Amino acid sequence: VKYRYWETKEVKTTCAYCGVGCQMNLVVKDNRVVEVQPAKGAANEGLLCVKGRFAHDFIHHPDRLTQPLIRKNGTLVPVQWEEAFSVIINKVEEVKQGYGAEAIAGFSSARITNEENYLMNKLMRGAIGTNHIDHCARLCHASTVAGLATTLGSGAMTNPMADVRQANLIFITGSNTTEAHPVMGAYIRQAQKQGSKIIVADPRAIELAEDADLFLQIYPGSSVALSNAMIHVILEEGLENTAFIHQQTEGFDSLKASVKKCTPEWAADICQVPAEDIRQAARMYASSGASSIIYSMGITQHVNGTENVMSLSNLALVTGNIGKPGTGVNPLRGQNNVQGACDMGALPIVMTGYQKIDAAETRKKFQEAWGVQLPENKGLTVTEAIPAAAEDTVKMLYITGENPMVSDPDTQHVKKGLEKAFLVVQDIFLTETAALADVVLPAAAFAEKEGTFTNTERRVQRVRKAVPPPGEAKPDWWILSQLLKGFGLEANYSGAEAIFEEIRQVTPSYAGISYERIEKEGLSWPCPTAEHPGTPILHQGSIARGAGLFKPVEWKASPELGLKDYGQVLTTGRILYHFHTRTMTDKSEGINQIAPHNYVEIHPALAASKGIKNGDEVMVTSPRGRITVKAMVTERVEEGVLFVPFHWGNGANVLTNGEILDPYCKIPGLKVSAVNIEKAAN
Ligand code: SF4
Repeated sequence: VKYRYWETKEVKTTCAYCGVGCQMNLVVKDNRVVEVQPAKGAANEGLLCVKGRFAHDFIHHPDRLTQPLIRKNGTLVPVQWEEAFSVIINKVEEVKQGYGAEAIAGFSSARITNEENYLMNKLMRGAIGTNHIDHCARLCHASTVAGLATTLGSGAMTNPMADVRQANLIFITGSNTTEAHPVMGAYIRQAQKQGSKIIVADPRAIELAEDADLFLQIYPGSSVALSNAMIHVILEEGLENTAFIHQQTEGFDSLKASVKKCTPEWAADICQVPAEDIRQAARMYASSGASSIIYSMGITQHVNGTENVMSLSNLALVTGNIGKPGTGVNPLRGQNNVQGACDMGALPIVMTGYQKIDAAETRKKFQEAWGVQLPENKGLTVTEAIPAAAEDTVKMLYITGENPMVSDPDTQHVKKGLEKAFLVVQDIFLTETAALADVVLPAAAFAEKEGTFTNTERRVQRVRKAVPPPGEAKPDWWILSQLLKGFGLEANYSGAEAIFEEIRQVTPSYAGISYERIEKEGLSWPCPTAEHPGTPILHQGSIARGAGLFKPVEWKASPELGLKDYGQVLTTGRILYHFHTRTMTDKSEGINQIAPHNYVEIHPALAASKGIKNGDEVMVTSPRGRITVKAMVTERVEEGVLFVPFHWGNGANVLTNGEILDPYCKIPGLKVSAVNIEKAAN
């Protein structure tokens, strides 16, 4: 679209891709977004990455869903909203009568707004009567929420992103920051320029590893061994913060006993890095004066993900690197509103603001606010609900803005569950998941609605409508409020702000936040009163839990390691150009030119031994299935390790294991899979 600036208007909003939450201006001409410009905001300070700046073609893409669809005689056909709603409501009643509300599960979304997540919570718990509500945080930071809530009393990033520039030492582990959270990556680069030292511990030689002060190329699944050995060295050499341990923690003696045997030599075997490098990392982290830990899914997506997180928390607590600028335990949340979806109670065990559903006073409060009786059953996670659908105990699935056919482990098993259940999908495109649905509801994209997202640093920021949705597509909050009314609940919301006002009433950590207060700049929760300035840094003065809890954790080998007939280990992750399951980025021609297809990274020595050359078609096989992709021969991975980005359908998650889950939080071990690689037959 050609345009001149005086023909356009600008609408400030929040990026709909990653959890950094960059502020941007949508440049609009004739009801079309024609360009995106960076806007000033505390989260991004005027920066945008390639996705935020250029990958906006999806908004007006011809493939957008524009009408509700219902499957009739095997085909999805367009219908009016009234018919779609009545099919859903009748099906809910039928399943409830036959099998009870526990035979229905709903997945909310890290893509939709806080207001919409809140209504999804209200629909599943208040209207339908089940606690089976979850979302894709189960596959990314469920272990962060479980781990940090246990040790620190709050399962969120402790310090703001830009604060990393005040760190003397940045320990980055399991985060390919410059690709997955590019603007956060820019802050790390700025810190480095100002003299901060950097340690990277990762199975791949990621971009940040290239000029890190110390790079530990650890074996997939060895993080607990590394953290324990670092703590061993810190205690052996007297580098711990004795005053902090004494004043602000508990459980130190048991931690000390547990790491006694974890010498650097012991860990060196497991991590496959030199013992001296582990010593060096421990000394650098403990003695810098202000050390920040940055981590992401390389830590969390493991069958011991919660223990990985706890071991990092132990490291921060033993050195007192928490509650101050330039320190902290900082999980980078993946999607634009994954923090907000958790905050809004789109999780099986909590209501908004992490108020436990099994507490009678929580249920009483919401029962009075919503005028309903709330269920007490134990809710299923995403990773339990899909297998339950495959086993026919969950009969109906309502999925909003998620694409488990690409994002969830063991694609074949996911497909079985989605095909067996009565499936409702609410989305902006006919995704791989929506294509299997019985009812498809067309939703508005971020540029077409009002609301709020909460970014990785707990900052609640405005989302603003710039253009109308296409055809009959509607904002998710409108769709959900129609269904709430259909089930007889009070839901006459005049708009997103009215829903936010209701959220404030029932959520102490959001109580002081209003649209008026965040008109110019977002606020980080906890923000309990209208006068409260928000809380950029958690645990200042004292740990939110009261005392920081040391949780001793033992390293255990992944059950995927050493499987007979599988000689390599596969790890997965993101690349800069695509986002999540590519539903939005694959609509941008420029992005598809740069990153047109899936691939597997393979070390030159392994490639040579298998007769594989760069660009060859190869087969990667695991106990779950087989994929055919192009080989990228690179020294970025070690010889026994392969890497496949998870963005493409019929890709990495065909191979991953969805059966064995972290016992604390039910996250699967997406980062360690037993595989074999062979050249594909011509
Ligand atoms: Fe959007 Fe994340 Fe890029 Fe910022 S860093 S522009 S939030 S994708």
